[in-house]
Amino acid sequence: MNSRQPSLSNCDICGATQTLSLNIHNIRHRAHTRHYCTNCVLKQHPGLFCPLCFDLHEDSLLAPHHRLMCVRCPSVAHRSCVFPSNTAVDSTPPFFCPICLDANFNFFSPPDRKTGAVDVQSAKVLVAAARIAALSMSKAAAAARFDAERRAREAAVARKRAKEALEHLAEILAREQDEELNGDVSAGGRRRGA
Ligand SMILES: [Zn+2]
Ligand SMILES: [Zn+2]
Ligand SMILES: [Zn+2]
Repeated sequence: MNSRQPSLSNCDICGATQTLSLNIHNIRHRAHTRHYCTNCVLKQHPGLFCPLCFDLHEDSLLAPHHRLMCVRCPSVAHRSCVFPSNTAVDSTPPFFCPICLDANFNFFSPPDRKTGAVDVQSAKVLVAAARIAALSMSKAAAAARFDAERRAREAAVARKRAKEALEHLAEILAREQDEELNGDVSAGGRRRGA
């Protein structure tokens, strides 16, 4: 994408570095391990978390009337987070997630320069990003295990087939040899006897 040196501490998407106190997470993306900063982890995984309270949807299967999907993207928020006071189900204005409202929106705000303190939202964001990263890596590990098992099974089947083919070949060769020998003997016998 750009000419910067690949590094463990750079975000593959926005190039942010660990020095900005933005944690860089390992994420599995299309069978590759990528490094995404906290903001990019969340921006790449809309729908996995509520963009307002940063709880992962993994934890609870939300009933349809408790969730609101962004009009523009797969982001899903808790209805109660979007409309804390108004929980009426039928009169809901369209919901736009923070990213769709502002393309430059950042979930994570850098810590205070003087105190190094992270605000509560950013702390929650960090947890959400870390958990999404962990989920993606464990899914990848499971996929790798599955893949390894499948390959092992395929290898075992292939070995069995090769063994059977060899045995089959040996049988055919033995039978042909027998027939040849018998044929020779009988033919020779006949010839000799004739
Ligand atoms: Zn990034
Ligand atoms: Zn929420
Ligand atoms: Zn959206």
